[in-house]
Amino acid sequence: MSNYKFFDQVNKAFDKAAAYTKFDTGLLEQLKACNAVLHIAFPLKRDDGTIEVIQGWRVQHSHHKLPTKGGIRYSMMVNEDETMALAALMTYKCAVVDVPFGGAKGGIMINKAKYSDAELERITRRYTFELYKKNFIGPATDVPAPDYGTGAREMGWILDTYRQLSDELNADGCVTGKPLEQGGIRGRTEATGRGVFFGIQEACDNAEDMKEIGLERGVEGKTFVIQGLGNVGYHAAKNLYDAGAILVGVAEVEGSIYSKKGINLDALMEYRAEKGVITGFEGTKTLKDSGSVLKSECDILIPAALENQLNIKNANSIKAKIIGEAANGPTTIDAHEIIKNRGALIIPDNYLNAGGVTVSYFEWLKNIQHVRFGRLGKRFEEDSYRKILSVIEAVSERQFSDKELKILAKGGGEEDLVDSGLKDTMITSYNQINEIRKVHNVDLRTAAFINAIEKLGNIYERMGIFP
Ligand code: NAD
Repeated sequence: MSNYKFFDQVNKAFDKAAAYTKFDTGLLEQLKACNAVLHIAFPLKRDDGTIEVIQGWRVQHSHHKLPTKGGIRYSMMVNEDETMALAALMTYKCAVVDVPFGGAKGGIMINKAKYSDAELERITRRYTFELYKKNFIGPATDVPAPDYGTGAREMGWILDTYRQLSDELNADGCVTGKPLEQGGIRGRTEATGRGVFFGIQEACDNAEDMKEIGLERGVEGKTFVIQGLGNVGYHAAKNLYDAGAILVGVAEVEGSIYSKKGINLDALMEYRAEKGVITGFEGTKTLKDSGSVLKSECDILIPAALENQLNIKNANSIKAKIIGEAANGPTTIDAHEIIKNRGALIIPDNYLNAGGVTVSYFEWLKNIQHVRFGRLGKRFEEDSYRKILSVIEAVSERQFSDKELKILAKGGGEEDLVDSGLKDTMITSYNQINEIRKVHNVDLRTAAFINAIEKLGNIYERMGIFP
């Protein structure tokens, strides 16, 4: 769809929600605007000695809170419009889950598969250098993270480049999603997918919400289809699968597979690691194209690849009762209306995939505090629990086994605390936006936008506007 404009789509959803808020047009226009847009073009010397021009962007959507925060995407679809839309979504997402950052996003227009590791490292380091020179990176200004096509390895290169340019004390906080040995945090890699799971689980555990769409309560036994088995998609699928949901379909770039009886996710991952594709996996039907499986019978459909996947062309064929938007912008505004009017529950991106930025926030806090979560309290908690347990043993017949003591007297380490913070964030925020949904009789996306606009508007109203 050539006339698809992602930033317009985000703004349309914003406008719909803004009608339910008290703010006047001028302030709303300010909330929507991207505060700073950087477009860079720099040369890459390829391994064969030829020179290629690389295009990149970084957009800081809102400076109402600093630093700004948002991932870096490597894809051929990256352009200014996409980066602006993704940066705006970051602002609203952070507001919804109460993460105190403004939104930002970056991207480099490359097909990763075409470059060697050494070339990707040169691209990433040069991009970081450009960001640094233009004041678009720093622990107090703008903090990138992984997104489509990037991961811990790229974040490690970014930190290392930044460190060579700056000797500031909090330099480790200039980027999140880093490898553990470079100041990363346990649980960040799986955070977005795990957050998607917590959000879907919370919706499914809500008997009233499930009744509205004609489903039983609980995740267990529900069938689901996933589009994109990357970082977010895999971890969302793995968590749902482990909780007893049945994976019936998977879409990847090379094609899609379906099995009514269920697909063994662990075996599929092994097969994919060996063959490089998901198609042809034993016990499944390989469908004629990647998008076909999105239209299959299932309770939950999770688009976890890219934007504009559920659109006017396929919306009428989508049968899922729950759409869990793990990707950013997977559903167009038109498709949203069609799917919603059919009676489905759409759990929107600006809430559902916020687990990544939430744990990035924890990582940034760890970096600027210079101490791992749990480092001070874990042993103290364990000793206290053991004392309580020994009192229980002394006054009762009960003697705890070593195994029981290990479980009952466990103090909170980094992994536990991060997971608990993530779970609490996803549950609390779901209930917050669900409440707004009911008060205004709107859909969850509109409710999430109302929530974000109210929080942002209240801050902007108190901000000094300089002449
Ligand atoms: P990723 O690069 O790890 O994985 C994306 C996967 O989608 C890849 O396996 C790719 O082959 C597949 N894919 C691409 N086009 C497809 C298509 N048309 N059909 C089926 N599969 C396709 O990326 P990711 O980090 O998992 O990001 C996925 C989405 O989640 C993006 O929209 C991103 O913005 C969003 N997101 C990511 C994070 C994060 O922490 N990584 C956080 C929030 C939101």
